[in-house]
Amino acid sequence: MADVKRKDEAPDPQEDSGKETRTKGVSRRGFLIGAGMGVSGLLVAGGTHFMNNLPDVAVERLLQNAFASGRDAKHFEDDALYVITTGTGAPLPDPLRVGPQAVVIAGDQMLVFDAGPGSTRQLSLTGLNLSSMSALFLTHYHSDHISDLGELMLQHWASGGATEPLPIYGPPGVEEVVAGFTAAYQLDRSYRIAHHDEEVVPPSGFGGVAHTFDLGADLMSSAVVYEAGDVQVIAFNVDHPPVVPAVGFRVNYKGRSVMITGDTIYSDSLIHHAMGADLMVSDSLNHKMSQAISEAGKDMDNNLSSVTEDIQESHIKPEEAALVAREAGVPVLLITHVLPPVPKLLINPFLRDARAIYSGEVRMANDGTMAKLPVNSDQIIISELFG
Ligand SMILES: [Zn+2]
Ligand SMILES: [Zn+2]
Repeated sequence: MADVKRKDEAPDPQEDSGKETRTKGVSRRGFLIGAGMGVSGLLVAGGTHFMNNLPDVAVERLLQNAFASGRDAKHFEDDALYVITTGTGAPLPDPLRVGPQAVVIAGDQMLVFDAGPGSTRQLSLTGLNLSSMSALFLTHYHSDHISDLGELMLQHWASGGATEPLPIYGPPGVEEVVAGFTAAYQLDRSYRIAHHDEEVVPPSGFGGVAHTFDLGADLMSSAVVYEAGDVQVIAFNVDHPPVVPAVGFRVNYKGRSVMITGDTIYSDSLIHHAMGADLMVSDSLNHKMSQAISEAGKDMDNNLSSVTEDIQESHIKPEEAALVAREAGVPVLLITHVLPPVPKLLINPFLRDARAIYSGEVRMANDGTMAKLPVNSDQIIISELFG
């Protein structure tokens, strides 16, 4: 069993050391610019009158501090596999969660998985420099996994002056999706080049380059689709009816690993590809809660009732995800793609059946939940980047 720590319960001294174990890549490549961070931190002590009459110099200083410094840059300096769930929602609107996305940081690699609606802004709020993205990986082409692709490609280009397009990996169909978003953003491209300087927004860095991998029809099939230094990304087929193809991913780095299910129902493929991983980030749909919403929506003049019933055939239950984690020997399960949307009060009931059959750590991910998996260790340190 891994040594699982929640940062809020048991702070890890390495987390706050802010030095030493910087290893390869992440910091040297300047991931951690953090522009846009911390405006909410502009609140200062003082009454309303004082706040309404801040001298200009104080306003300037507060803004400079908020935008100039990386947010907790030390989060990424240790040699570790970092996994951040930047979007934990699903297609149904959720005031607590944007659309699905996870980010994996390892060595000099920053790998992004899916681009759900609103996820680009959450990703920016982590303090990561989006122009340093190494690659984007798409699990399938439901709109809740691709609708922020235009924004993500734009920020990769315009926020840091990338000189090459974003590499985008996916199963067959990725060329069509990337071409469509690239076409939709052509006008914006021309405005930005006209408005700024080509040194600021080098035209060569606009858009994305599609890289297709084809795993065939066998549900158990998988392949290494990306390698860079010590980082390896494996794609594997999952079962997400009626969507074909649909894949999940596993990232291995120096003996640590995370498995990301993508959207899926329960299958042996999940167990096989999660085997021995340290962390599983899983799709989830609580069937009892979804059914309750379906019943409640029967008299409404919209599609809510039928949609919440139909989606039950396409997503894994939390207790099934826990079964996968148990059978594969995965010590920590992060539940994401939360369906149906639930208020915080219902998180424990949502996870109750999963906890009943699984002795590992199961928790619902939030937008901004980060798992840090140091190399040469079995620790998994979980913290919240957004408070
Ligand atoms: Zn989805
Ligand atoms: Zn889907």
